[in-house]
Amino acid sequence: MGERKVVLVTGGSRGIGKEVAEIYAENGYDVVINYVSDRTDVEGIKKEFEEKKVKCLLIKADVSNSEDVEKMIEEAIKEFGKIDVLVNNAGITRDTLLMRMSEEDFDKVIEINLKGTYLVTKQVTKYMMKKRQGSIINLASVVGVVGNAGQANYAASKAGIIGFTKSIAKELASRNIRVNAVAPGFIETDMTNILKDEVKENIGNQIPLKRMGTAREVAEVIYFLGTDKSSYITGQVINIDGGMVM
Ligand code: NAP
Repeated sequence: MGERKVVLVTGGSRGIGKEVAEIYAENGYDVVINYVSDRTDVEGIKKEFEEKKVKCLLIKADVSNSEDVEKMIEEAIKEFGKIDVLVNNAGITRDTLLMRMSEEDFDKVIEINLKGTYLVTKQVTKYMMKKRQGSIINLASVVGVVGNAGQANYAASKAGIIGFTKSIAKELASRNIRVNAVAPGFIETDMTNILKDEVKENIGNQIPLKRMGTAREVAEVIYFLGTDKSSYITGQVINIDGGMVM
């Protein structure tokens, strides 16, 4: 058996991020799970992984804080010596119409979703460049492609992630580091649970596959993008949206 690989998942405590951590763990990766609050039993996730002989490092850090991020990556490297796959998944929404959107609502979403992706990527690529190997997957959204009323801040952050992904893919290709984004549509997680039932039903009707997606369906694509099975794919944005955007 070869050397074990290591994945770092930001916002890995819940929703899509948790499912991503699980799918890599199932496939023999050691896992670094980042989170920011105490709302999830992250120790429970770690215990579950360790029972399956997967090493799991939990790191509480705010991805929008450069000091936190620097410490997080140092800790991960100290433990595992490398990061093979980075999944920039941590993200928030602060939805409201532009007229009601406060400067704080705008800044917070940009800081966590977009600046957080920049900060973590910058620290991790230092190590990936030395190894001349790596795969980075960023969480965009279909909203970053087509826009959405009531989500100007979120859509701007996700459109920013798409531009960031393509630029970094061009910069890092010569170092054998691939960078891609996934753009999920409506996925069943805490982020979408807050939507009213009638809104969900309305959304469902607009999706060709007539249902919301699952975190697992997003994680499967993220896993593929992290492995050598996707070795000739970089700089792409892959929609996972039941056909919403085509
Ligand atoms: P979620 O269930 O709300 O989970 C968000 C995760 O991000 C949690 O693990 C949370 O940690 C973490 N997080 C939030 N702020 C953070 C910060 N400052 N630093 C570090 N971690 C932070 O979200 P989700 O639905 O799984 O979404 C995951 C990603 O997919 C996001 O980028 C989202 O924009 C994107 N996405 C989701 C959908 C969807 O329909 N759900 C669609 C398109 C794109 P704590 O548990 O500690 O709070």
